Amino acid sequence: MKMFAERPSNIYEMFVNSTQKYPEKEALIKDGIRLNYRDLKKQVDTVAENFLRKNVQKGDRIALLLGNELEFVLTALACAKIGAIFVPLNTKLTARELIFMLKDSGAKILITDHRLVQPLEDWIINNPSLQFCYLIDDEKPEKNMYSFKHELLKEVDNGFHDYIPPQETEALYIMYTSGTTGRPKGAVGSHINAIHSCLNYKYVFNTDHHVRTLIAVPLFHVTGLIGQLFHVLLVGGTTILMERYRTEPFIKLIHDESITFLFNVPTIYVMIMSHPLFHSYSYDFVQIVAYGGAPMSKETISELKIYFPNATMHNAYGATETTSPTTIMPKRYPEEKTSSVGLPVPVAELKIVKEDGTECGPAEIGELYIKGPMVIKEYWNNQKANLTSFTEDGYWKSGDIAYIDQDGFVYIMDRKKDVINRGGEKIYSVEIENILYAHPKILEAAVVGVKDTLFGEEVKAYVVKFPGEELTEEEVIDFARKHLSEFKVPKQVEFITELPRNPGGKILKNKLIELSLQQRGNHS
Ligand code: ATP
Repeated sequence: MKMFAERPSNIYEMFVNSTQKYPEKEALIKDGIRLNYRDLKKQVDTVAENFLRKNVQKGDRIALLLGNELEFVLTALACAKIGAIFVPLNTKLTARELIFMLKDSGAKILITDHRLVQPLEDWIINNPSLQFCYLIDDEKPEKNMYSFKHELLKEVDNGFHDYIPPQETEALYIMYTSGTTGRPKGAVGSHINAIHSCLNYKYVFNTDHHVRTLIAVPLFHVTGLIGQLFHVLLVGGTTILMERYRTEPFIKLIHDESITFLFNVPTIYVMIMSHPLFHSYSYDFVQIVAYGGAPMSKETISELKIYFPNATMHNAYGATETTSPTTIMPKRYPEEKTSSVGLPVPVAELKIVKEDGTECGPAEIGELYIKGPMVIKEYWNNQKANLTSFTEDGYWKSGDIAYIDQDGFVYIMDRKKDVINRGGEKIYSVEIENILYAHPKILEAAVVGVKDTLFGEEVKAYVVKFPGEELTEEEVIDFARKHLSEFKVPKQVEFITELPRNPGGKILKNKLIELSLQQRGNHS
């Protein structure tokens, strides 16, 4: 048997190390299916071989439009084996957005299910560059589509094709993030980016093969994919998958599967703690509670400590571009640092930069720049974003306003980019504003994030109507809903006679946010 070195050079080798150490150990559990490492590897190898037989070449893109399904994991690891690049797509997006990503990435294969494929059916039939579409839940699909089970999980009887394994600097996936211009940017994550991030998590959380995690945050974002799935595969632990987050089954699975490692966006913790079922169990077995993707309130952290008495609490700050973690709160920290996002992960280089490009002194506030082997090298097919998002010496400009205290702890204060963080899902205001401007009765529109107890922020639109026009809040919301994914649709619309501007004509969004806070104050 081919043995891989302890230091793997791609994600598949990293996974195979664990299969060699713990072949009988449960690797992946989903809806009653329990796969040990040996059986998981067998299925991954089958999918990889079937890809080779369909003439998938190194560097080809394979899109995944799925919830947290076993087939997602099988495809991702099969791609990692043969050097294909998987493209995880956000299942909440509209057909227009998905088609952009399918085209931009030049995907040759799409793997999805019968419900998610529906809005894309016409495009798939008429688009010759997409060669195959596989459905995971339909064994006899029609209209140019194939069954994942019968085609990609088909037993391979007569030997395996040769292939050249990917090098560590080669691309593992393309993950799209929302962009300031409304055009999504494909962050190209390499094998070595992902390996570094997994090692960072292992180092800070001190995880080993006893770890058991429950993934309900989407695998198409880095927290689920890297912070949980790949990290736990690296240490030989067990992953329980939920197709998507639902409060009651999530709580039940934490209890029934004795989950030791939780890693979620703040909204999920708020939701579970306010559900009656949560209070009928005790959670002594939980050892690590991590949270990130959005700010978390001190009150929520204090409450979590009560319910998870044996767990260490870790705020983790990162982004798609940093392949998940940039800073993580260490196991022990002084009480007064609770609002920090922690210390930089090993090998991360951080600096805080002023508007004029010079570096800030200690505790001075500026934009956070990040460098290190977990930072992506480029966006896919997007020279403009590559030029504006990275410095010449390799720092990624995060767009987050931060400072670093004298002990090296990092604090995120604000955002430079005009983005709303709704429960970890990022929404660029400009995308919604562009849609609202297309409404014939809207003269001007500005979209801001307003405080929300569950999601942290919600989308609110301030709208100026054309003089003499009649327009209701519902009409604006319905119009937005026709063009935008549901999570981006404004939850509140307020009509205003004029938008506040500075003397240069720039809309003052802070003033709108203040206005909404005053109104909240008046209503409560
Ligand atoms: P995921 O994609 O898995 O949700 P992510 O939210 O970290 O991970 P992005 O969607 O790329 O990745 O968003 C990154 C942005 O999220 C950061 O630039 C920052 O604004 C915000 N963010 C991430 N982690 C934190 C945190 N712990 N506290 C505050 N803001 C955070």
